[in-house]
Amino acid sequence: MSSSRIYMDWNATAPLLPEAREACLSALDLLGNPSSVHGEGRALRTLVENARRDVALLCGAKPGSVIFTSGATEAANLVLTPDFRMGRMPLKIGRLYASSIEHPAVREGGRFPREALSEIPVTSDGVVDLPALRDLLTAHDRQLGLPMVAVMLVNNETGIIQPVAEIAEIVRPHGGILVVDAVQAAGRLPLSIEDLGADFLIVSSHKIGGPKGAGALVARGEVMMPAPLIRGGGQEKGHRSGTENTVSIAGFAAAARKAGEGVGQRMSHVGALRDKLEADMLAAAADVVIHGRDVSRVGNTTFFTLPGLKAETGQIAFDLEGVALSAGSACSSGKVGQSHVLMAMGYDPRQGALRISIGEGTTQADIDRCAAVFAKVAARRRMPGQAA
Ligand code: PLP
Repeated sequence: MSSSRIYMDWNATAPLLPEAREACLSALDLLGNPSSVHGEGRALRTLVENARRDVALLCGAKPGSVIFTSGATEAANLVLTPDFRMGRMPLKIGRLYASSIEHPAVREGGRFPREALSEIPVTSDGVVDLPALRDLLTAHDRQLGLPMVAVMLVNNETGIIQPVAEIAEIVRPHGGILVVDAVQAAGRLPLSIEDLGADFLIVSSHKIGGPKGAGALVARGEVMMPAPLIRGGGQEKGHRSGTENTVSIAGFAAAARKAGEGVGQRMSHVGALRDKLEADMLAAAADVVIHGRDVSRVGNTTFFTLPGLKAETGQIAFDLEGVALSAGSACSSGKVGQSHVLMAMGYDPRQGALRISIGEGTTQADIDRCAAVFAKVAARRRMPGQAA
């Protein structure tokens, strides 16, 4: 067995692209502040505005509606608020309806009080339950303010694609604001804020091969905007104060340019590798449950439960064999928590599931080695009823 490690946790963080690294290093050497009017400052302003154009292009949006943040979590906290403005007029949002499979960055509800949060259930296939959403919005009390709906385009644990355009059709007649967490979709699906019918998209640099610590809130227009979360010097047109993180923004832009190129071709290659891996897994253990296999998924993710193998034990076993994967989403404490996504899909979350997420740097040799480790781990597991 090779002693080198293989990285199969791209949904947690994708490897830094050489282009992004190069862009960060060049930006590190640039002197000045992008808000300064002198030549040095103007050069940095150009860098930030070019980056804005690159991120806008990735999202099918206008450059003027991209707000740089420290990541997707901050973007979510910026947009998930009852406190909006329509031009100069205050606009009240009464309730946030977020799907039960959202990432904690969204599920926590940003600046909404707990009592103003409602959960949209998902079906056992892990897809947002559209009739349930319709019912929730029909029952919404407009006296409290407009409804806001938050759904992710691609789930980070299962890779399942949500029917966002259909969701937009449901939200629109209720005058609702639609926020779409596109963190795991960027670079894996073609993105267009217009085609999705979303009012806001959330994207993150480190999920597409850029550095950690940069992300963006992307709006459809510039008229309806959330109250700022970070106030101060008025950068980002007053939507997000603080001197721009030009190094990370430069890397983010380089990654955004790559992520937007040839998505279809890249993902069909990645999808073929993932499908081969799943076929090998099923051949080694016919009882493996691959979550979301019957619905539309992005090609880079496989989320599975092996009966008799606890997710935590499985994660360690793969790690000892040199394969980095994860048990659901990365938890800040490093502990394996129960997956709220599995629970929302009606599975017993106690056993948990393991997530393999790959990308364009993954090779057939990596897949073969991962499949061999899977077969070894599956053969060693303790089956229910088997003595210790
Ligand atoms: N949304 C989704 C779907 C994610 O997968 C993640 C990261 O795991 C986030 C939001 C948070 O992103 P960031 O690390 O940029 O705050």
